[in-house]
This record gives sequence, C-alpha cells and structure tokens, in this order.
Amino acid sequence: GMLLGGAIAASLTAVGGMWLTDQALKPIEASFNQLKQFTADASHELRSPLTAIKTSVDVMLSHPERIHPADVKKFEAIASALKQMTRLVEDLLILARTDQSSHPSQWVNLPLEELLEDLIDLWLPQAEAKDIILRADAIAPAMRSIIAPVTIQGDPFLLQRLFANLLENALNYTPPGGKVTLSLEQQEDWIAVSIQDTGIGIAPEHLPLVFDRLWRADKARTRRAGGSGLGLAIAKSIAEQHQGQILVTSQLNVGSCFQVLLPIHF
Ligand code: ADP
Repeated sequence: GMLLGGAIAASLTAVGGMWLTDQALKPIEASFNQLKQFTADASHELRSPLTAIKTSVDVMLSHPERIHPADVKKFEAIASALKQMTRLVEDLLILARTDQSSHPSQWVNLPLEELLEDLIDLWLPQAEAKDIILRADAIAPAMRSIIAPVTIQGDPFLLQRLFANLLENALNYTPPGGKVTLSLEQQEDWIAVSIQDTGIGIAPEHLPLVFDRLWRADKARTRRAGGSGLGLAIAKSIAEQHQGQILVTSQLNVGSCFQVLLPIHF
C-alpha cells in the first residue's frame, strides 16, 4: 500500500515534470520564433515606404528655391528623422537576420588587418573633425608578420558592421581631445581586437545592460547623437554568430575598452 502509493506519486511527479517541460517550452519557443519572424518581416516591410519618402524629400531638398523659406527647417527635420528611422530599420533587419541563422550567409577567408585598416581610413575624417586621435596601435609592421599568416573566417559585411559599431560608439562617447586606439593581438587560438577609448565610460551597474536591445545610459543625449540603441546588440549577435564573443571593461570618466575575440582558423 505505502510502497505502491509512493511509486505512483513519484511517477506522476516525473510524468508531470515531463509534461510541464515539453508542453510549456513549445509555445514559448514558438512565440519567440514568431516574434523574430515578425521583427524581420516588419522591418523589411518598412523599407519600401521609407525609400519612397526619402526619394520625395531628396527631390524637394535638391530644389530649395521651390520650398517656402519658412518650411526649409521643417524639411531638414524630416530628412534628419528619416535618416534616423532608416538606420533603426536597417539595424533591426540585421539583428533579425543574425538572430535567425546560426551561420552567416557568407563565409570567406578574411584579411582582418585590411578590414580594420579600411575601417580606420573611413572614420579618420570624423575623428579629426572631433579632435580625437584615432590610432591603430598593434597593426604596426612588427605585428604584421605575426598576424599575417592568421586567417579569420566570416562574413565581411557583418564583421565590418561589428567593428564599425564599436568604433562609432568609441568616437561618439569620447569628448574632443580624447583618443581611440585599435589593437590586434593573438591569444592562443583566438584573435583579440580591442577598441579602447578615453571617453565618458560606463557605470559598473550599467555594464551588464549595454548589450541589451535598445538600452542606453542616457536616452535623450544618445538619441541626438544619432545611434539606434541597437549597435552593441548587433555587435554581440554578429560576434556570437562567428563563434566569438565580446568583453567590455570600463571606468566612468576614464574610458571603455571593448574586446572582440574571434577564433582563428589555421
Ligand atoms: P547607441 O546607438 O545608443 O550608441 P549601442 O547599443 O551602440 O547604442 O550602445 C548602448 C549604450 O551603451 C549607449 O547608449 C551608451 O550609453 C553605452 N555605450 C556604448 N559604447 C560606449 C562607449 N564606448 N563609451 C561609453 N558608453 C558607451
């Protein structure tokens, strides 16, 4: 009686446990997938009307003489909001794509050094305009011979995006007179790319949140700075898609260092 009762109770619990796991996880998983699909579809659908608006605004702004002087400022505001929204939609689309596939669509051997050098060339004018020194420390000739035989595999577009997001942040959150340094380092089977700035830094209690979607330390200020609040979420998603990871260390009013670790394929 007692023994049998115990056995039945135990098996019911076990069966109950199985039922809970199986039945409860399926709808959760399904709604996650639905949410991801919705984000992908919605951002894709938003692209054509945004392109249509942009075309009209561009035509109007290319003939300022046809715009009533009192309306010029309004058109500029529309153009600026449009740029912000286009960026947000593009970022959502990239995030949805990296979310949906565990593997990038392109997978090629990449000269990481070149990719980073191109990136620096691209951002140098902006750094100079803001009086920030932008330097690539370890991509010096001495390092070149060590790094050169190392091959990184991945999607060039996505990896460019990953480093551009980190570099853009470094420049955005560093006041004039500061310094942004890029460095490359081999750590056993990993290549570590560090982007270090002498900027405003991140509070310790905020560090675990920076990679969250749409999280920002200062909503108002960063919105004016033009970012989407998705930059770091995208960077993390791309790094993970490449079997890598991102680490961050930071000190308020001293600066931040974002480090991307990517596996080396020998
Ligand atoms: P945003 O478009 O706001 O830059 P991100 O996802 O790229 O969005 O970054 C999220 C938040 O993390 C930023 O709003 C900012 O508060 C903080 N942050 C990111 N990078 C840095 C940095 N290099 N220095 C200081 N704060 C940063």
